Amino acid sequence: MSPSSFHALALFSGGLDSVLAARLVLAQGRRVTGLHFVSPFFGKPQLLPAWQEMYGLDLVPVDVSDAYVRLLLDGPAHGYGKNLNPCVDCKILMLARARQLLAEYGAQCIVSGEVLGQRPMSQRRDALDIISREAGVRDLLVRPLCAQKLAPTPVEEAGILDRARLRDFWGRGRSGQLTLARELGITSIPTPAGGCLLAEKESVRRYWPVLRRVPAPSPVDFHIANAGRQFWNGQHWLAIGRNREANERLEALAGPQDLVFTLRDMPGPLGLGRQWPGLRWTAETVRTAAAAVLSFSSKVKELRKEAAVVVCGAGHQETVIAMPQPPESIGWLDPSFAVFLEEKRALCKTAGQVLDDFG
Ligand code: SF4
Repeated sequence: MSPSSFHALALFSGGLDSVLAARLVLAQGRRVTGLHFVSPFFGKPQLLPAWQEMYGLDLVPVDVSDAYVRLLLDGPAHGYGKNLNPCVDCKILMLARARQLLAEYGAQCIVSGEVLGQRPMSQRRDALDIISREAGVRDLLVRPLCAQKLAPTPVEEAGILDRARLRDFWGRGRSGQLTLARELGITSIPTPAGGCLLAEKESVRRYWPVLRRVPAPSPVDFHIANAGRQFWNGQHWLAIGRNREANERLEALAGPQDLVFTLRDMPGPLGLGRQWPGLRWTAETVRTAAAAVLSFSSKVKELRKEAAVVVCGAGHQETVIAMPQPPESIGWLDPSFAVFLEEKRALCKTAGQVLDDFG
């Protein structure tokens, strides 16, 4: 193959390292397509057109939602980071998916923006080795930002990428990356880290009951967990919109078996009660859920009297009259981060999994 027909697939998160890694390969005259992985937990596909323009890269979204939920349900073989982020397994999953896509794009290698020593869990030398071995990409993967700290890859040995023009970055600092960005004429610098909800406390406390209590969670369940306020009453799950956008989102996510709660006579939030086979919402559970939904309507609270809530779903429609009541006073509890942490530690201990508090 001539170097000019060489095509690389680059893992592209939108973070600075992923931009630089792809651009370093592009700067050597090689063709690069950036793969932007999308799931309920990460990915901003709506930004792809702006990023393409900004960074001069071809970018495509790759949905890994189902595989990712499966990974969380099975439990990551290499453990979790600080919260629910299974970084080593996540990288393996993404690189393995990139490998599967090589033929489709007619590409010959994979590029990733990892930097040796940048993250204690997933970017130690041994972790980088495990990742490339288990993803089946040992001979296909180039890590341009730290290539000079690693053994030469077949792509470098074949002279397709000039190793001397790759970099030797190491550790957590960003000064090398910022200098490289200037050299490459990149003026729009993404803010460091962020973007993965599995690493954020607020999201993790929402996801944990879904993983523990929903019998066979799907990506839709995690999208619901991302939207609005979350309440659990035993096995019963109620999401309540905070604003019009969240109300619309929840309504769009409701399945035919779910219960949708809306106020009949005045403005207020929308509630979504999730139902699955084997779980029955009793009349009392529906009434308390309606009371909880009413408690977030300022108009109802101001009037301090009963109000009507229309409950639709599972082939039925009924109107429930209830007084607004704070959810926690009637058994609907906000999922707690402390409970997540405690249960995660106990689970990891039982499973003999690594507990790495750094991510
Ligand atoms: S923080 Fe970890 S789990 Fe989240 S996207 Fe990055 S590597 Fe994957």
